[in-house]
Parts: sequence; C-alpha cells; structure tokens
Amino acid sequence: MLIIPAELLDIIKKQGEEGYPFEICGFMIGKMDYNNGVREVVEVIQVENQNKERANDRFDISPKDYVKVESYADSKGLQIVGIYHSHPDHPDRPSQTDLMYALEDMSYIILSVKNGKAESFRSWYLKDKKFEEEEVKVI
Ligand SMILES: [Zn+2]
Repeated sequence: MLIIPAELLDIIKKQGEEGYPFEICGFMIGKMDYNNGVREVVEVIQVENQNKERANDRFDISPKDYVKVESYADSKGLQIVGIYHSHPDHPDRPSQTDLMYALEDMSYIILSVKNGKAESFRSWYLKDKKFEEEEVKVI
C-alpha cells in the first residue's frame, strides 16, 4: 500500500499537466515498512526526463539524479519509496518498458494526462516480475 498526502498528489498532477505532451518523472521519498509492504511518501522530487527522442512515451532517469536523490533522502533519514511518471494521452497502466526497468519494493505511480489535463492515476508495484495495482491511501 502507498500512503501519500493529497498535496503531494496535487504536485504530481500539476507537473504532469505542465510537462504535457511529454512524460514527466520524479521520485517519491519517505518511509518504508518492508514487513507490511507499506510505503509512505513524505516528499516528491521531479527530475529531468533524459529521453528526448521519445519523451512523449518514454522516460529515463539519469543515474546521477538517482544518486543525488538517494543521498538527499538519506540525509533526512528517509529513502526512495517509489517513482512517478506521466502517460500523456495514454492510460494509467504500466507499459512493457516500465516493466523492464521496475525494481522490487517500490511504488510506481502512473498519471494519465489527457489533452493536458490530469485525468487519473494508479499505483503499481512489482510482484513475481509483474505489475500489480496497489491500494493508495490519500491522507
Ligand atoms: Zn510509463
């Protein structure tokens, strides 16, 4: 389960709308409860989509940004609990490419942005090398 404050969700939606028609992406950092599979988001950090050729339907995060966000989270006693990205004019389900790069124990929020408006979102996590939708508790 993913727990996320409503105002952080609003930030993600805004970023998705502002980035339209391109995919935006970023990290969710917070607290992780491995035993119960609960991830709680404390902060969201947008990073640049490194994929310029297919930014309308792909996103890449540079290893540099990953390291930077990880050490920032670490300095606050938090960790990376997930990654969010937008799907411009596509549903909020993961693509084959999303699956290829997904990691265990992380939440993947996918935000569908249609005609520049954030329409819906769902969160996914990896289970037996497949994506499963997870419950999102907005607080
Ligand atoms: Zn995707």
